[in-house]
Amino acid sequence: MSSRSRPRDSIRLTGLTATGHHGVFDFEKREGQTFRVDVELTVDFRAAGRSDDLADTVSYVEIAELVQAGITGAPFDLIEALAEHLARAILRSDERIAATEVTVHKPQAPLPQSFQDVSVTARRDRADLLADPAAELAPNPAAGQTPGQDPAGAPGPEVAAVLALGSNLGESAVTLASAVTALEGTQRVRVLKQSPVARTSPVGGPADQPDFLNQVIEIATTLSPQELLRRTQAIEAEHHRARGAENGEIRWGPRTLDIDIISYGQARISSETLQVPHPRAAQRGFVLVPWTWMDPQAHLAGRPVAELARDTADFDTVQPLEHAP
Ligand code: ATP
Ligand code: MG
Ligand code: MG
Repeated sequence: MSSRSRPRDSIRLTGLTATGHHGVFDFEKREGQTFRVDVELTVDFRAAGRSDDLADTVSYVEIAELVQAGITGAPFDLIEALAEHLARAILRSDERIAATEVTVHKPQAPLPQSFQDVSVTARRDRADLLADPAAELAPNPAAGQTPGQDPAGAPGPEVAAVLALGSNLGESAVTLASAVTALEGTQRVRVLKQSPVARTSPVGGPADQPDFLNQVIEIATTLSPQELLRRTQAIEAEHHRARGAENGEIRWGPRTLDIDIISYGQARISSETLQVPHPRAAQRGFVLVPWTWMDPQAHLAGRPVAELARDTADFDTVQPLEHAP
């Protein structure tokens, strides 16, 4: 970007503090400590400056939620890794953010000396997201036990799995970005590919609910299918997913976050709690269309996803978010 077109405006959020479990030592993972994050967003807000309309700028409320979810989410060994993941999640959450600077402070770091603070700063822009896909492929730096994760059994070989994410309650774009961050921070999970976010019309449930945002991602994991399901359900719960009619949940109704396991290697699973490949995926444009954007050669149960997608009833309703009305 030339210096003339580069926006010079910035939005700063400083001193966002929460308890996290990041650190190389077991006691840090167990007990947790205070982390503080400062964020600077490079955003051209000349339009909002003139219109006085929140829709014309990036909401710092959403950024604050995203940062808090990152601090309190699955633990990393290094604050460098937390800063990197926050910077990427922030850039992915809103394409109007041209660049971001994320500083992670760890004022209670386990050092014998008297000291005030230790911090790292990641400076990333959109070019880093595009030019550095290897960073998305890097082995997951997270170590130690993710809260709630079942440590049973030695990890098997890595398996490629496809997950479908959906949201139509709350700040859906932020929720999707935050869910991907949580998966990136999950031990024994590597996020390999992400589709662009799609805006889709609701299928199957009440007709009067808001449009969904949907995204498909590919991961490599040594978690078993059941462990992966437990982890994705924990991430749903962290994002305030209500479950069960007693909590007001309506089948295929509005939800803050749904994460479905579409495929897990070549596995065919039919248990009470898990069916893989997902039994309804082959009829769902809101799953198949973003999947083909991510991977045009993808196959589901031996059939090209692109072909299956064309035959779905909701095919025409699936639009890339940036082009949706
Ligand atoms: P649908 O499965 O039609 O997309 P849904 O996603 O709204 O519906 P949920 O309420 O999220 O359904 O999940 C209901 C149950 O489905 C879960 O408790 C889970 O045990 C089970 N389930 C079975 N197969 C899968 C799968 N492949 N991925 C996720 N959940 C699954
Ligand atoms: Mg679902
Ligand atoms: Mg589900």
